[in-house]
Amino acid sequence: MDDNDHRAIGNRMDLFHQQEEGAGMVFWHPRGFALYQVIEGYIRRQMRAAGYREVRTPQLLSRALWQASGHWEKFGDNMFALPGEDSHALALKPMNCPGHIQIFNKRIRSFRDLPFRLAEFGACHRDEPSGALLGLMRTRAFVQDDAHVFCADDDIVAEVARFCALLRRVYADFGFDDMAVAFSTRPAVRAGTDAVWDRAEAALADAAKQAGLDCRAQPGEGAFYGPKLEFALRDNRGREWQCGTVQVDLVLPERLDAAYVDADNKRRRPVLLHHAVLGSIERFIGILLEHHQGRLPLWLAPEQIAVASITEAAADYAGEVAARFEEAGFRVALDTRKARLPRKIVDAREAGIPLLAAVGAREAAAGTVALRGADGDSEVLAVDAAIDRLAPEAFR
Ligand SMILES: [Zn+2]
Repeated sequence: MDDNDHRAIGNRMDLFHQQEEGAGMVFWHPRGFALYQVIEGYIRRQMRAAGYREVRTPQLLSRALWQASGHWEKFGDNMFALPGEDSHALALKPMNCPGHIQIFNKRIRSFRDLPFRLAEFGACHRDEPSGALLGLMRTRAFVQDDAHVFCADDDIVAEVARFCALLRRVYADFGFDDMAVAFSTRPAVRAGTDAVWDRAEAALADAAKQAGLDCRAQPGEGAFYGPKLEFALRDNRGREWQCGTVQVDLVLPERLDAAYVDADNKRRRPVLLHHAVLGSIERFIGILLEHHQGRLPLWLAPEQIAVASITEAAADYAGEVAARFEEAGFRVALDTRKARLPRKIVDAREAGIPLLAAVGAREAAAGTVALRGADGDSEVLAVDAAIDRLAPEAFR
């Protein structure tokens, strides 16, 4: 495995590991999970601002529901099922859609409730063959930043455009400016009639055009319930990684009997749009690590600043400075080892910590820090001034 592989970076930065007893699963270490939570928190705020409401649905659901949704038939080989009879015949969810439809169905919905937007950090399991597993890129357990919009036919174009704008903003924040879009159409194994597929594909093509997307065609690559747009990020090594998706679905609302009452008091089927911005968060972290080679932007770094004492006498002051940064919301590593400063600088860089605040007798007396960034330049600032200077870049 080369040094640039996300597994090597993850090991170097002490972010996560995987082992035989949990093949295709991830053990997140404290630093890795700090990164995970920063990403989750950021997406949560973005989705809320875009009008999605967050929910959580069960991990295990009855096999009967998966049969009704069509997942059991079309996707069953990839599902983990528990042995049992009737209501004890449960399966781990490979997707979150049927759960969200249960929430929609629990009330009588009117056209005024549409578009009805739900989001979930959905923990999914899929039984991938062991040969296909690859670090964080291909796992059996992952969390999707999943979302579903229940809407009327007329809303599809606006909803897709809205989602594409959100995607672009988010990808840019993570340092990706280059995005490729693919349009995937009906697969050989599918649910729904040809007429339904004609309608869904036409609606999505229209929406993509209006959103100004330049799409490459991927015939036969759609989901079993509908066509999709797939958004791939191009990393700094020129490789493409599929992350976001938008899928138009006219099949699942029918199969699971989702309905709303229109302006003429008639019962109608909503269109279901499936969205994910990052896709699998595990996989996205793998892509991020390789793209940035472990040198994550300040707002994403598991530890943002190392506070290092230059002399043993400055250890107490280093502790005070670290506490001040922590109070301001920074993720801080405190280094009061006896080692010399150059050693501490090298170790912080190795751990992917973008900033270092060095403090010795002079800084302790003046209430300052010697702040050093990735470029190696160092500047002496009062602690408050350093916090004010760094905060805008440190939090998204
Ligand atoms: Zn879905």
